Amino acid sequence: MNKTKRLEILERLRADNPEPKSELEYSNPFELLVAVTLSAQATDVGVNKATRKLFPVANTPEAIVELGVEGLKEYIKTIGLYNSKANNVYKLSQILIEKHNSQVPESLEALVSLPGVGRKTANVVLNCAFGWPTIAVDTHIFRVSNRTKFAMGKDVDKVEAKLEKVVPKEFKVDVHHWLILHGRYVCVARKPKCGSCIIEDLCEFKEKTE
Ligand code: SF4
Repeated sequence: MNKTKRLEILERLRADNPEPKSELEYSNPFELLVAVTLSAQATDVGVNKATRKLFPVANTPEAIVELGVEGLKEYIKTIGLYNSKANNVYKLSQILIEKHNSQVPESLEALVSLPGVGRKTANVVLNCAFGWPTIAVDTHIFRVSNRTKFAMGKDVDKVEAKLEKVVPKEFKVDVHHWLILHGRYVCVARKPKCGSCIIEDLCEFKEKTE
């Protein structure tokens, strides 16, 4: 895909949604970190349902530690992989208290050293909580980037590197939201809704639907 098309795609996505936000509900960096950690292989809707009950009771590292792993499980047991997620959230809360003055660190290196926090989670936290121009490639972004030929790559790291290279600075903070939302609601996995897609004329997917 050429530069002109990419730019037009980004401009249309921005015009359609000038201030995109994560669909996860949170009110501070710690809540965001917990919500993103819980969202691996789960839906944002399912995570929000659980955190709406959890956060009023525990939304600081101290309160999570106070709640304990078993207490935490009670709130998140509707979410897939909740046993290991409860352990990770408990342990990362302990580390935040011990090493980071109970704050979420604004550093990729420090974030990825926390239990259950991979590069994608860290990038989401840096982007949404601190406004970094990071691009966290998830399954939706991977699919949309390859299908449209906007930024092709065999794995998420390659797509991330390609997006880093081809997305102009002014779009970097928001591009991951636009691509996630596009993949979640329009360019869906099984049958993309090409007929109602605002970038249909620019997309280079060969098997577009009606
Ligand atoms: S035209 Fe179809 S395949 Fe291309 S981005 Fe839109 S929904 Fe996805």
